[in-house]
Amino acid sequence: MIKGRGRPLKTFYNIFFHFKRGLPPLFLNMQLIKSPSHLILTPKEELENQLLRMEKAGRTCYQSEKGEVTKETAEKFIARLIKLGHESVIEHSQMTVKFFDCSRGFTHEMVRHRLASFSQESTRYVDYAKDAKGEAEVNLNKFQIKFVAPPHTNNEEPILLEDGRKFSFAEMLTECEKFYRALRIAGWLPEDARQILPTAVKADIVVSANFREWRHIFKMRLTLAAHWEIRGILGNLLDEVQQVLPAVFGDFAEAGQDKNGLRYFKQVKAE
Ligand SMILES: Cc1cc2nc3c(=O)[nH]c(=O)nc-3n(C[C@H](O)[C@H](O)[C@H](O)COP(=O)(O)OP(=O)(O)OC[C@H]3O[C@@H](n4cnc5c(N)ncnc54)[C@H](O)[C@@H]3O)c2cc1C
Repeated sequence: MIKGRGRPLKTFYNIFFHFKRGLPPLFLNMQLIKSPSHLILTPKEELENQLLRMEKAGRTCYQSEKGEVTKETAEKFIARLIKLGHESVIEHSQMTVKFFDCSRGFTHEMVRHRLASFSQESTRYVDYAKDAKGEAEVNLNKFQIKFVAPPHTNNEEPILLEDGRKFSFAEMLTECEKFYRALRIAGWLPEDARQILPTAVKADIVVSANFREWRHIFKMRLTLAAHWEIRGILGNLLDEVQQVLPAVFGDFAEAGQDKNGLRYFKQVKAE
């Protein structure tokens, strides 16, 4: 709740009359999320089997389809192609990843990658007044909007506004949620009320791309210059794909940590 400066009596009256007017509870709070996550939807075996397909495709270029193609031969072949920069061959592939509890800012950055395909949570069609489980019933007096907070900030710290009031980040988002609720109660549709939602609002997204495009996304979004959220989320994805597909993604390595202790990466030349 936003605290008025030096006006406790007025605050008390506001709260008292708020309930007298039968308005929704004041203390319903939005939820701050600090730990987004991901799930690779493409099965592990399917990811690995694609290595063999890529070797078969690549060997067509050189007419060198001799012996049996195995996981081992494919890994060696693909690592060599990547080292040579012959990356069109690794376009014969696909990986789908679902990202959960990310901000709309993150999804906005992801959808700039034009060679990938996307399905993202809609702020038009998702009604935040519905239960999180997607139940049909709409309860305008009781719902919670999720927002993604920076992991390195004090979200409770009061920030002085130019008009003398003080709001913390968390209080500002609480007000945002209240305003969204008020607009809905006033008859606004979700697609109109969404206009007041900030970049921090939580959004899930599914992204499909071939391995070459994933490598490009990692190259662009894991450097120190990239935003902390996309860098953090994709850094965790990189950890996983390096385990499953070292031949494809093994040439990225941690290069350090930013001033907030968040990792950044660089591409290293394979031996
Ligand atoms: C640190 C950072 C800061 C950024 N700041 C801003 C910003 O201030 N404002 C802003 O608008 N964006 C910004 N971006 C986004 C950036 O401009 C790109 O839109 C985004 O990174 C996608 O990159 P891309 O176009 O290379 O990738 P993709 O769309 O994934 O494309 C992959 C590659 O395919 C090729 N390609 C794709 N489409 C075409 C095409 N039509 N013609 C020719 N080749 C094509 C290119 O080689 C491209 O690199 C920023 C990105 C980063 C990483």
